[in-house]
Amino acid sequence: MEEEIYRQSKSKIEDYETIVGRSYIEELKILGDRLSGKIIQNINSTYVGGGVAEILSHLVPLFNQLGVDARWNVIQGSDKFFEVTKKFHNALHGKDEKISPEEFSLFLEINQRNLNELNFFGDILFVHDPQPVALIAKKDEIGRKWVWRCHIDVSNPNQEVWDFLRGFIHDYDAVAFSSPSFSRQIPVSQFLISPSIDPLSDKNKEIPPEAIDSVLAKYGLGQDKPMIVQVSRFDYLKDPIGVINAFERVKRNIDCQLVLAGGTASDDPESEKVLNEVMERAAGNPDIHILLIPPGSDIEINALQRAATIIMQKSLKEGFGLTVSEALWKRKPVIAGAVGGIPLQIQHRFTGLLCYSIEGAVYALRQLLTNPEYAGWLGENGRQHVKQNFLITRQLRDYLLMFLSLYYPGDVVQL
Ligand code: UDP
Repeated sequence: MEEEIYRQSKSKIEDYETIVGRSYIEELKILGDRLSGKIIQNINSTYVGGGVAEILSHLVPLFNQLGVDARWNVIQGSDKFFEVTKKFHNALHGKDEKISPEEFSLFLEINQRNLNELNFFGDILFVHDPQPVALIAKKDEIGRKWVWRCHIDVSNPNQEVWDFLRGFIHDYDAVAFSSPSFSRQIPVSQFLISPSIDPLSDKNKEIPPEAIDSVLAKYGLGQDKPMIVQVSRFDYLKDPIGVINAFERVKRNIDCQLVLAGGTASDDPESEKVLNEVMERAAGNPDIHILLIPPGSDIEINALQRAATIIMQKSLKEGFGLTVSEALWKRKPVIAGAVGGIPLQIQHRFTGLLCYSIEGAVYALRQLLTNPEYAGWLGENGRQHVKQNFLITRQLRDYLLMFLSLYYPGDVVQL
């Protein structure tokens, strides 16, 4: 299988010095040097759509600039395979899914096909999420170092799916989870590494007001009333209908508008169905704008997030929720579901507001819409919190240390 061309970050590693300081970047270069000669081969299931692709498209070029030969391949799967892996995804998040024996077999069959077709050239095979987890079967033949990177909240998984995957996970040399609360009892070294955002990417960099205006004009959005925005793939777990319900209740007393902006991911077969339901639910309300955003429209997402008065991320389950850090970095007040990795980013009443229900979301929306000063204070705190904890430079450092630790077992590697 050919390595495909994917969107590459254009930033230079030195450009980050203005944000995190020169010594931080020097340290990254020293760590990178110690891995020179090793190939890090990332393997996941899509180049576009969702947080994993988002992070890899920025991390891989930055690794290369640090002298680490990082590359990225995706596995090939059929529609049916991605339906099964979406069920796995939901089941790992705790949803009651029934997976048939045929579906487990199909999962294994597609992984076997990729085992035959994929070129395993990495010194470290860095496998992301459940879709390609069974590629570990290759380890018996080729050896090398294998790391499984889990981006899902597996703190309360469906037992059948977890037991099935566990058989593969146990063969890895290390596993990385996004949050301490996701860690599991497994006989494998575990690393806790939060995802991150790239502050210099098109999605997060500063953009001029004219760029924001032109995106608003393109989508027919006015700035005459407060704008509540949620950016998410159309997925039940992001609870778009719950956001509409909360918005409609707030709207009875406070004039405002809602923007649900999202796209689809090639490894997520459910999104069209969810999008249709959302469109139907929103029909007839001119203050609800459902925007289908094509992949790669990073400036548009950036502009919508910056135009927002309040950002929502009312997820019911979440791995990390990159959109939260994206919004906080832009100094936006955020209201988000208290699930998965979101509480790492939102410290309630300090860097944003957490909600546990539609009623909670309604209360938080009213509070922020009527108190812009408080909203601004939360946003400013959020910016500092992201700067300290969720920028890509921190994730580069964590990954470099994790990779190095594979070659120095027994040594203490400080993350
Ligand atoms: N995103 C995007 N366009 C969309 C919807 C989402 O670019 O239409 C981006 C979003 O800005 C974020 C990523 O996709 O960078 C989603 O990551 P997150 O962790 O929030 O959720 P996931 O989709 O991985 O569950």
